[in-house]
Amino acid sequence: MTGLHARFRDRTAFAPRADYRLLPFRFIRLDDQRYVVTSDVGEHVVVSRDQLIAFARHELPVTGALYRELKAKHLVFDDDSRAALDLLAVKYRTRVAPVANLTGLHIFVVTLRCDHSCHYCQVSRQTEDKTRFDMARDHADKALALVFESPNPAIKIEFQGGEPLLNFGLVKHVVQEAERRNAVQRRDLQFVIASNLTHLDDEILNFAREHDIYFSTSLDGPEDLHNANRPLRGGNSYRAAVDGIARARAALGHEFVSALMTTTPASLPRVEDIIDEYVRLGFTSIFLRSLSPYGFAIRTRLIRGYDIADWLGFYQRGLAHILAVNRRGVQLREELTAIALQKMFAPLGSSYVDLQSPAGIAIGALVYNYNGKIYGSDEGRMLAEMGDDSFCLGSLDDRTFASVMTDDALQQILEDSLPESAPMCADCGFLPWCGADPTFHRATQNDIVGHKAFSAFCAKQMAVLRHLVTLLEDDPDARRVLMSWV
Ligand code: SF4
Repeated sequence: MTGLHARFRDRTAFAPRADYRLLPFRFIRLDDQRYVVTSDVGEHVVVSRDQLIAFARHELPVTGALYRELKAKHLVFDDDSRAALDLLAVKYRTRVAPVANLTGLHIFVVTLRCDHSCHYCQVSRQTEDKTRFDMARDHADKALALVFESPNPAIKIEFQGGEPLLNFGLVKHVVQEAERRNAVQRRDLQFVIASNLTHLDDEILNFAREHDIYFSTSLDGPEDLHNANRPLRGGNSYRAAVDGIARARAALGHEFVSALMTTTPASLPRVEDIIDEYVRLGFTSIFLRSLSPYGFAIRTRLIRGYDIADWLGFYQRGLAHILAVNRRGVQLREELTAIALQKMFAPLGSSYVDLQSPAGIAIGALVYNYNGKIYGSDEGRMLAEMGDDSFCLGSLDDRTFASVMTDDALQQILEDSLPESAPMCADCGFLPWCGADPTFHRATQNDIVGHKAFSAFCAKQMAVLRHLVTLLEDDPDARRVLMSWV
């Protein structure tokens, strides 16, 4: 027996250790009772105030479930979990690694002309006869050279306007030339045309089918609402969109057509109608987008038609309706919510360019404007149309991809916009799920960092994230549906 005993250490060796060390964390109040604690890689725990204090003071009982959860989520470590630091570092590297791929999204603004006169138009469209607002072929070729200088293995070329189908000849040229170059480079190459579909015809559809081109269109809801938001001189915008969606799906396949909506003051009381319209038309995704402070939305003062609190009410009712739709067995996900959930639960986070750290400016997307100017984001060129060219990265006539990426002005924007070093954001518990939007803050506060206490962007992020965490914590039914979107 003595020999047998000698093979075991004394029972005190197995007693839980009281000392543990904290790993980097941030916290933020969820409601009157609870706090959200987040790690640098976006894992989180919801705790009471007393638990938060005990955790931070190293007073948590190490035998408890909360301690085990904090340890599993790399918020604490002890002598039993020295590998935690390495694991956390691996997770962090995994999350930020895509930044090194540089630009994947390349937006060609092939024309500013458009047949619509939408009240919220962000790009200051021009009438159909003004062909001087078309991109020149020479600039398109120079833009393609930049596209293929990007090291990103996955390249998406998106055609925007105005209405890009009004300059379809150039769209064809860019697609054919990109494919010719890609025969050698062999990137994962994808094309998207953002179109109101008014000018869709058989020639365009045949070309789209031959080249696997996706369409992204605008659909603001039921016919009366859509047409009120998107006037089409001498026509019916809603009918054109719905007919175009049906034709494109028949020619290309259901998944080749997606739709985006914009929330105007008239949309606010009608979120359920809007969602039902998307369901009726067979979409599996909807993005409840608020108005952006650019272009006609500013000039027509439409942006003042509601504030962020109004939009949040719209969003929360909409999300509740979408969850109810899902519970009926119909698949539909809300995109802003899905982006947040990806950031909370997916190892790579989300690739959505408008919510990145550092900001997705240029390193996430490049915009080649109709006039040959290069911008680091779609919103950057929208701001330029309003007379503020601060996000211009030069001209296609004298830029290479390398010279754009190493541009001092761009480096400064990226450095300044890192939320990790921005006042308020640096200490915010929601930081790993948030991002930077320097263009929005430049447009609204004349400062790319922005004072977050007065920022509608920040108010929206905080409210959406609080609402989501509350749903995940308190509503198991909602949690089941939401987790299926990750
Ligand atoms: S913008 Fe607001 S919600 Fe986002 S990290 Fe900064 S302070 Fe937090």
